[in-house]
Amino acid sequence: MYPERVVSSMRPTESLHLGHYFGGLQKWLKLQAETPCMFFVADWQALTTHFDDAQSIEEKSWEMLLDWLAAGIDPSQATLFIQSHVPEHAELHLLLSMATPLSWLQESPSFLAHVAKSSQAASYALLGEACLRAADVLIYRASSVALAPDEMDAVAMMGEMARRFNHLYGKEKDFEEKSQLAVKKLGSKRAKLYMELRAEYQEQGIDEALAQAKAVLDDAQNLSMIDRERLFGYLEGSRMLILVEPDGLELPPSQMPGFDGQPMTYALKNHIALRETRQSVERKVRSMATDPQRTQGQLRGNPTHCSVWPMQRAMTNAESSERVRQGCISGRLSCVECKRMLCDAIALVQEPIHERAQAYLDDPSLVRAIVADGCDSARKLAQETMRDVRDAMGLNYSL
Ligand code: SF4
Repeated sequence: MYPERVVSSMRPTESLHLGHYFGGLQKWLKLQAETPCMFFVADWQALTTHFDDAQSIEEKSWEMLLDWLAAGIDPSQATLFIQSHVPEHAELHLLLSMATPLSWLQESPSFLAHVAKSSQAASYALLGEACLRAADVLIYRASSVALAPDEMDAVAMMGEMARRFNHLYGKEKDFEEKSQLAVKKLGSKRAKLYMELRAEYQEQGIDEALAQAKAVLDDAQNLSMIDRERLFGYLEGSRMLILVEPDGLELPPSQMPGFDGQPMTYALKNHIALRETRQSVERKVRSMATDPQRTQGQLRGNPTHCSVWPMQRAMTNAESSERVRQGCISGRLSCVECKRMLCDAIALVQEPIHERAQAYLDDPSLVRAIVADGCDSARKLAQETMRDVRDAMGLNYSL
């Protein structure tokens, strides 16, 4: 009914590094070639945890947008925008929050995980973050939302919020009465089963219950076409789908190790930034720890005792990394040469990134223009949804 559309975002809380490139950004590049995509800088989301660092959000947002473009995100294929420049996100967040049970938010795995690991007192915004994230996606009636694997609980929450909204506000006039009359036409046994399955689906989101209830309707030969259609709509709560339940798409987690052998993260400061200079990369690679046995005069090395090897393996293909391994264990490859090969492999990935970035660094107004266009397009879609949302809730009254 609504066109295919993928929504995904990143928070401007840290610089992008090669781990991001080989994780989420690669998936974005693939997605933009297949489906209309909306990629946005989630600056309001970032403030739920970084509210005391609000001044840095603007600079980080522009840096992130430049990184996306440098990585190959194509504004002719994807809409790039900034969350806070589409204020309809905030309005839908507010309206969704009216009908969201507190327990959904309190029991949200991402909220509980954050509370468990953070020393910061949880804020009202953090508790309601699931509502904001749902609004960020539902406002575009997206068919899919691309998230990290550990964020998939958010997709289920978005679906529940959309379903609940449609159930509460998406009914036609007299829809309830007409639907109740149609239920009676199913006959008492079928009507009871239908209502039980409907409750299971609407209250617990059990897809199997929805499928079974639809099968009950398919079997009911005596229903008129209009009653059948009404009862299909009644199952999902409305005849008009105002908000769309999105599917979840997993962004692959980064397999990129940092230069200490641990997973590459900004927090561990073991990262190589997406646009890091060759000079800086070489300095970092030179300082990487190698097999300690080898520095004590032994010729043969063991790559599994070396922090260069995991990065070599991640940056090069299987054949090249096997050559390095063989060279190391046979003693034919020196650590100096091995590190030079790693620098070359990193440079090979970074060269096109630097090239694309340079055009935007030379003329920063290009990035601003792309994002202004993206914000306009996003706002148009968001305004359409909000018009329907307000209509459904009876809030489109004039003064
Ligand atoms: Fe590590 Fe390479 Fe030296 Fe082997 S040759 S110890 S893999 S740096």
